[in-house]
Order: sequence, then structure tokens, then C-alpha cells
Amino acid sequence: MAAETGTRTLGEPKPGNEVVCSKETWPDAAVLDRLFTGAPAQDLLAYALKELAPGKVAVVSSFGADSAVLLHLVSRIAPDTPVIFLETGKHFAETLEYRDQLIAQFGLTNVRSVTPDADRLSALDPDGGLNGRDPDLCCAIRKEEPLEKALAGFDVWINGRRRNQTSTRGAMGLVERDGPHMKINPLAEWDNSEIEAYRTIHELPRHPLTGKGYLSIGCAPCTSPVSENEDARAGRWRGTGKTECGIHISRNGETVRVLSAGQTMTESSEIQASPRADIRANAQDDLWTRDGFTADDWQRLGDEDALPETGPVLVSAARWRDDLRGLNSLQDRDVGVELMPDDPLEEIVPDLDRLAMVALNFPAFTDGRAYSSARLLRERHGYDGEVRATGDVLLDQIPFMLRCGFSVFAISDGPTRRALADGQMPEVPIYLQPVGRQDEGPLGARPWMRTRI
Ligand code: SF4
Repeated sequence: MAAETGTRTLGEPKPGNEVVCSKETWPDAAVLDRLFTGAPAQDLLAYALKELAPGKVAVVSSFGADSAVLLHLVSRIAPDTPVIFLETGKHFAETLEYRDQLIAQFGLTNVRSVTPDADRLSALDPDGGLNGRDPDLCCAIRKEEPLEKALAGFDVWINGRRRNQTSTRGAMGLVERDGPHMKINPLAEWDNSEIEAYRTIHELPRHPLTGKGYLSIGCAPCTSPVSENEDARAGRWRGTGKTECGIHISRNGETVRVLSAGQTMTESSEIQASPRADIRANAQDDLWTRDGFTADDWQRLGDEDALPETGPVLVSAARWRDDLRGLNSLQDRDVGVELMPDDPLEEIVPDLDRLAMVALNFPAFTDGRAYSSARLLRERHGYDGEVRATGDVLLDQIPFMLRCGFSVFAISDGPTRRALADGQMPEVPIYLQPVGRQDEGPLGARPWMRTRI
């Protein structure tokens, strides 16, 4: 579940500030897998949709028993995400109704029902009974081949498999390289209780057949209800020995699809999300200091907001200059001013003894002007109040930010939050940019000059 943060939502990109990868510079799947392990599914989804391959990501959904969770998550990030539904011509009527219900309820605007090639059907399944004679071939022409065509033009596809569904899925990663595609399994870590909790929290509609014992739902001829002691997928292709849709082989413990042209591609299904994600997301407003995460007691005021009666307030430089600076009633009140990079620091210097906090904004991690402002505050003006970093603050920056005088960090970046929560901090043994500390020589001295000082 995404959480409101005041200015943006966890899992949503910072407007105008997306970091977009090109396929040529994609991170290694194993690196991404490690980075997002234990992370909210929303973070991984948002990363895939907005940064890894924006406009080149498709979700594959069967609109089956667990599909609502993933589709709900995706809809809250980008409801126009292409969603591929393999319309095999063999689905339960209830599945098609459920598909239409979820589309309407979640506001999905780009669901594509993909059908088999008519010539292939008439040649290989003229009477529609191929599923009984050769279910692998039936899956190949009704699912595999249409999916292959549908994924052309996409770089990333997202599916909803979970590790706890079958033993063959037990070792799959959150992110896998799949031939020319990156494959994202955002719900791989979720168990049944997390799926159920998410469904309950968000009051998601259930597939109408789940109440009749169908816990994994595919095509009607190949799906049967399960008993209490059976696995959810025991009702799929019952009695045939087939356990996965399409033609599958095992490659390094991973289920893969074998395509008609001899290519391989991992199999598809639905998606899910986690209460664990909600817990992490709900801590989004926390601040980070050297002592760990802490609550933010400051109230950020817009330029038109009424001044509250009590409590510390954070305002823009313009609001301070034009409205609050002259108010005697604020003499005993904690007030902070947030400076954007273009706001002149010198304008608030005469007021520093009245300001309990100066927030310096990083509109992008590539914009380093706030470093200089922090150093000037500490080194030139001797400011000893709170210097807060706001905006696009990433883990790699923090060691140098600390050296420059920042004391509090408002962090919305998911991976940075998780790393800090886990006690991780980049080790930087050598700094090539000195600050004005006594052991480093005068402010501005370059490393190669220090030995001469
Ligand atoms: S699940 Fe059954 S009916 Fe559907 S494509 Fe596969 S074999 Fe054919």
C-alpha cells in the first residue's frame, strides 16, 4: 500500500525528477533482487514502472483467484499500465465478469485481452478439444504464442507468482533476467496471510469461484475445486501430471516457457502485495538522524496556510520574508525556513538566531548547492540549530552531508530508508572534498595541498 507523505506517495516518482534507466545500462537482476528483498512490493513496482523501463512494462494477469492484489497495487501507481490478459477462449464466464469488474473498480485503462492466432487454432484445435488430447500444445497455442507476441515491444514484464505456491517457485527471485526481458515478481515473498490481509484492508472483490473451492483459477476445462488438505494449485490440470501453464522446463530451478521458435521465457500468472509494505510505508514521514528514525513534529506550512496556534512550523523563504519575519508573536516559537537552491542564504542570515531549523532542499540528487549552504551555515555563520536535508536524499550522499553539517534527514527514497533502517551506511575512507574541520586544513583546501598546510 502506498502511503501519503505530504508531498508525494511512497512508490511514486518525484515529479519531473525521475531517474530513467536505458536497457543498455540496466542494473544486474541479482543486484536489483538484493536491493528490493524485504522491500514493499510497491517500491519494486514503482521502480519498474517509472524508472527501469517507463512505457516498456507490461503486467500479465489471469484475473484469477489472487489477481486483484497485484492489479490494485499497479492501479495505484499507474492505472494506464498495459495489462495483458490471455483470452484463451476457455475461461470461466465468471473470470471474464471478474476481469470487467476489476477493470472498472481499479480504473485500469489499458487492459489488453490477447487471443490465439485463428489459423493456429483451426489447424491444431479445430474441434476445441485439444486440451483433453494434448494440454501442453493447447497451452502453447492459446497462451504461449499469444503472450510472446503481446510482449514484443516491452522490456519488462510483471507477474504475480509467489514462492509459497509450488516447490518449483520456491527459489525464484524478485527480479530475474529473462532473455531480452527483465521479469519482475513483486509478490514473490508474500505468503497467504499477507495476501489475505491486503485483500481485507483494501476490501478487494474476490473471484466468484473462490467461494466454491477454486483457489487457483485458469481455463475452465483444466481447473477443478480443491479440498481443504490440497494445495491451491492441485485443481489445475488434475490427474494429468501437468502443473504449469504452457510448456515448461526447469532451468536453474526456475520454471521457463519453451516457445515455438526454440526461445525460452519464464511463465506468467498473477500478482500480490503485503501488510509488511504498509508497515514500512506508514513510517514514511519519519526523519532520520544519527540516532535512527524519529517522528517529525514540525508542521510544514504552505504560503497560503493559516498559522497554527501552537507547535513548530516550517515555512518557505518567501513566507518568512513577506509574512512571518516581523511577527513579534513568533519570538518564542520554533520556526524553520526551507530554502530551495535558488533562495539566497544571505537573506536569512540576520535571522538565524530566531530560526530553530534551516531546511535545505535537494530537488535532485545531482543538485549539490545545498551542501555549500550547509557548510556556510555551520562554518561561516556558526549556526547551531537543526540543518535538515529535504527532497531527493539518497544513501550515498549522507556521509558527506553529515560532514557538511546536516543533522536531520527527511528521506522518502525507499531503498535509502531500508538501508538506514538496517544500519547500513556507505563507508567512505577518503574524502577528496574537504570541509572546514581542524584536521583537514582551511576551508576549500584540496587534498593534495593539505600536507603543505
Ligand atoms: S489451461 Fe487448458 S484449456 Fe487453457 S490453454 Fe492450457 S490446456 Fe488449453
